Amino acid sequence: KQYRPWEVRRVRTTCPHCATGCQMDLIVKDNRIVDVEGADGPSNHGLLCVKGRSGSFDFVHSPDRLRYPLIRNRETGQLERATWDEALDLVASRFMEIKKKYGTGSLAGFACSRSPNEDIYMVQKMVRTCFGNNNVDNCARVCHSASVSGLATTLGSGAMTNPIGDITHDVDCILLVGSNPEEAHPVVGMQIREAVQHGTKLIIVDPRKLGLSQYADIHLRIRPGTNIMFANGMMHVMIREGLVDQEFIRERTEGFEELKKIVSDYTPEKVAEVCGIDKDKLIEAARMYASAKKAPIIYCLGVTEHSSGTEGVMAMSNMAMLCGKLGKPGCGVNPLRGQNNVQGACDMGAMPDKYPGYQSVMDAAVRAKFEKAWGVPLNPDTGVFATDVFGAAIRKEIRGLYIYGEDPVVTDADTTHIIKALKSLDFFVLQELFLTETAQYADVILPGMSYAEKEGTFTNTERRVCRVRKAVDLTKDPSFDIRLDTDIIIDLMNRMGYPQKKMTSAQIMDEIASVTPSFAGISHQRLDETPDFLQWPCTGRDHPGTPIMHVGKFSRGLGWLYPTRYTPPAETPDRDYPFCLMTGRILYHYTTRAMTGRTPGLMEIEGSSFIEMNQKDADRMGIADGEKIRVSSRRGSITTSARVGTRVNEGETWMPFHFPDGNANWLTNAALDPKCRIPEYKVCAVRIEKISG
Ligand code: SF4
Repeated sequence: KQYRPWEVRRVRTTCPHCATGCQMDLIVKDNRIVDVEGADGPSNHGLLCVKGRSGSFDFVHSPDRLRYPLIRNRETGQLERATWDEALDLVASRFMEIKKKYGTGSLAGFACSRSPNEDIYMVQKMVRTCFGNNNVDNCARVCHSASVSGLATTLGSGAMTNPIGDITHDVDCILLVGSNPEEAHPVVGMQIREAVQHGTKLIIVDPRKLGLSQYADIHLRIRPGTNIMFANGMMHVMIREGLVDQEFIRERTEGFEELKKIVSDYTPEKVAEVCGIDKDKLIEAARMYASAKKAPIIYCLGVTEHSSGTEGVMAMSNMAMLCGKLGKPGCGVNPLRGQNNVQGACDMGAMPDKYPGYQSVMDAAVRAKFEKAWGVPLNPDTGVFATDVFGAAIRKEIRGLYIYGEDPVVTDADTTHIIKALKSLDFFVLQELFLTETAQYADVILPGMSYAEKEGTFTNTERRVCRVRKAVDLTKDPSFDIRLDTDIIIDLMNRMGYPQKKMTSAQIMDEIASVTPSFAGISHQRLDETPDFLQWPCTGRDHPGTPIMHVGKFSRGLGWLYPTRYTPPAETPDRDYPFCLMTGRILYHYTTRAMTGRTPGLMEIEGSSFIEMNQKDADRMGIADGEKIRVSSRRGSITTSARVGTRVNEGETWMPFHFPDGNANWLTNAALDPKCRIPEYKVCAVRIEKISG
């Protein structure tokens, strides 16, 4: 270590990477973070993964950090240094000109799911009060919007039902579907592995072989895109064998008869054939899950990122409700959210159809409440979803876009389409830490601050509102002319004509609590005084928070056993594109790599793109492990290196999307789920070719 204990300060905060919400101490010496140590938080108990340990501070002090506002010179096309007044005046005046000329619907904004709740609240408030529409969204649209819409429909609330500790300790069986927590949520993965080593049964449902597969009692390697077929097959067996909880179904749910009729067609034989699995293993899995007393379903993007993602999520809640495994300890339906604060981004109303706390923009009484609180009339129409903004930009329906901290050129499906959309905009503003791939298309870039430079809160995947605390102040370095992101937004609001008074992060949380019933009891002061923080709903100053949801009653009253039906993926392999491509994340990097890519140690371990393919396919094509190959889809073509083995089945491939050299999203299919508009990242058809020989 490069410091002595008496030379440093410790600042307790929340990890900025995944939504496990691990508590950590940033070790600060001379206004610089020099180390990180795990703290005893409710979701991590001192544990940190490699991203938390090594990837949480190099990026804060990276020489690549943006240091001042930039405006693109229209003649040269170059970004040039500007003062804050020049940049903010230009942004406000251009947005208001576009609004005047083309109407309120011509502007849109995306909030940053890595930023604190308080920042996100102000972004959606700016869009609603200044742009005059509900065209505000966040990156949950491309990861867990299916969970939000699916679970809100069936249970009344689109969030994880039980805490992490509750579903990884003393449970009888874990049903893990489309989730690789050892890589995407490593501290959750560690706790699952430990539980299994202490006797918990584990059923994995995933096309790929995972690290946890070696500990699993059953691994159903279903074909990509067949989750609903699998779940309906499980329910067929549960009903046929009398494994369901009749009392729970009778007292707490509706829709059983219709669902029973539908799943009667999903015989184990038919399901086994479509999913490519052993029918006896399916039957064994149904018996194992249904007969276990404490058995959570844990799922992730393998369920949501499909053109049938919402129904896939509802199929998960159907299984849990049939077996009476909701509203109880050690059970529930538990989506592991991705980014550190993507749960919070949805909670804070960065959604085209919801104000903070999932209050509908179409509900006149709710709208009247926000109009009174914010002092302006509000637009009653649902806004444009983020994945539809790009098409709207190409059609010139949306002409001005403000993006705070998202990098859709890297993260969104069908990169060619995204770039075409960004180039079609009349005016594009980006608020960021770095010159990202998306920054190449921005007219103005506003430099913000990282999580280590501000106060606030992140809401982790288990609805726990955790404190984020300021550790360093880079503005002490005269080369930095950066501002707090909330100050930037407030300045913009005032310049666009909305009188927004300046507020601290704590004051913003007080405003959030005043308009959001599920956050009514939350304040920075109370979080600072509560060792395990608070899980929403927390409806008053004396309310203790809600670790387990739906106890005794679902948020929507009765739980809805939704009639889910299997539909095949939008694009499946054929003669021209004979392989199925899935995409995902690896342990060492976080989404766009904007943060982890600036930690040399992580880049040394995994620094470039690869594609996993099956040994038999590689042998047949004469492709060696590590060989550079070309991968093409109907949307684009990239070169990457082959990683040959048995992690994927024959005919299937898998790629991470973190790396700019051969990013998988040049290939992926932007076929959208009709309900929540999530793209089908998990299935598209590709062709693989040798480059030489
Ligand atoms: Fe951070 Fe997630 Fe790793 Fe915890 S598990 S240290 S929150 S990246």
